[in-house]
Amino acid sequence: MIRPILRYGETPLHQPAAAVTVFDAALHRLIDDMIETMYAAPGIGLAATQIGVPQRVFVIDLSLGRTTGELITMVNPAFVEREGTQLEEEGCLSAPGFNATVVRPKRAVLKGQDRDGAEYTREGTDLLARAFQHEMDHLDGIVFVDRLRGIKREMIVRKIQKLRKSGKW
Ligand SMILES: [Zn+2]
Repeated sequence: MIRPILRYGETPLHQPAAAVTVFDAALHRLIDDMIETMYAAPGIGLAATQIGVPQRVFVIDLSLGRTTGELITMVNPAFVEREGTQLEEEGCLSAPGFNATVVRPKRAVLKGQDRDGAEYTREGTDLLARAFQHEMDHLDGIVFVDRLRGIKREMIVRKIQKLRKSGKW
């Protein structure tokens, strides 16, 4: 089932998520819905907080579903390593129409669990490392806009507030 994606300014998106403790059918349904919602958007990543579920789960597929084996499902992820920096333009399904350059790690290693609770580790460089940090931020209630500083952030926040006021957000 495709779920509505929360937008910047909607409270649940800005709250940190709690660890998953039960790996049951409800979790599998949540993950399947997240994958379907991500592909439909389309986007390369989606965190549970973006559909208003405060649980530490995200899905990523850099191929947008075009390549089998590219789909990553991470439950209760934690950083094992992070190194280097990269500066690239970034967007978010929760802030459609906005892009900004965000500092992200060049390489990142995450340890987490799959949908059945089995632990595994996954390394990412470049775009995948960036996606890891982006989705990890979501699980802490942070949207990429919050990572910006100064005038760039103010401009985006002000535009979003304007859109909200006119009912277009
Ligand atoms: Zn996002």
